[in-house]
Amino acid sequence: MKITLAKSAGFCFGVKRALNLARKLSLSEPGKIYILGDIVHNELVVKQIKKSGVKKIKRLKPGMGRILLIRAHGAGKKIYQTAKKLGYEIVDATCPKVRQIHEIAREDEASGYQIIIIGDKKHDEVNGIVGQLNQKALIISSYKNIPYKKLSTIGKASVVVQSTQNLENVLKIVEVLKRQIKDLKFHNTICQPTTVKQEELKILPRQNDLMLVIGSKTSANTKRLYQIAKALNKKTYWINSAKDLKKGWLKGIETIGVTAGASTPDSVTQTVIQQIKNCLDFRSLSKKRACGQAQH
Ligand code: SF4
Repeated sequence: MKITLAKSAGFCFGVKRALNLARKLSLSEPGKIYILGDIVHNELVVKQIKKSGVKKIKRLKPGMGRILLIRAHGAGKKIYQTAKKLGYEIVDATCPKVRQIHEIAREDEASGYQIIIIGDKKHDEVNGIVGQLNQKALIISSYKNIPYKKLSTIGKASVVVQSTQNLENVLKIVEVLKRQIKDLKFHNTICQPTTVKQEELKILPRQNDLMLVIGSKTSANTKRLYQIAKALNKKTYWINSAKDLKKGWLKGIETIGVTAGASTPDSVTQTVIQQIKNCLDFRSLSKKRACGQAQH
């Protein structure tokens, strides 16, 4: 049995940076750190960050003496303005790649372009981009949901893309937009870590009997990795942790490819790999015995 772990599996630099900032701040300014929503879409990381003393809030309340940590997903202008007014000190962990998207969108909006965002409606990153603009952005979440009527009223538009979108899907949408809008600028703002992850997934599912994609069911980037892998290999499974592994999946399997979303800790991935190895040990000893549980 051969297990191949994708080189790009797990945390991207934007998530690492935000988590490092949160941990450092929780040590230097204990009890003062607040965050709007979950730091990343992963339950284990959320738990760890909560344990370190970072407090999650749903909305901003008076913040004198408090620090608001802006997440890697970024945020809209209003959040910054309101937080300042309420007395928060702001520490900005917006990923540099997301900040670039904000800058492009703001610049093109100032030059009179209608901003179109290809991305998931209501995703935190998309909300942040929308909130950086003065005019209403048009969000297109998929090829099936292209708003043709609306497009016919747009003379010039600039397209930016949520950093973790699937390039193939995006290009299909852009082809339609090019036909509908005379003056169209397209910025491929899918970030490099996402691109590398998706490139690896063009190969791994083809080279392996079974594919495992590890990450939270709340993680949009993990979902896309799963969709890409599943399209190439029917025996692709999306698991949150080693607990979700099913022994039956390994029947007749000689090679396994493993990847993990940008918000999946390496410890979770390593536990999954260890658990598979435990299953294999037991399989060779006795078919009746269950797989051993590896510890986190
Ligand atoms: S997925 Fe890309 S854009 Fe998002 S935090 Fe990671 S590096 Fe930054």
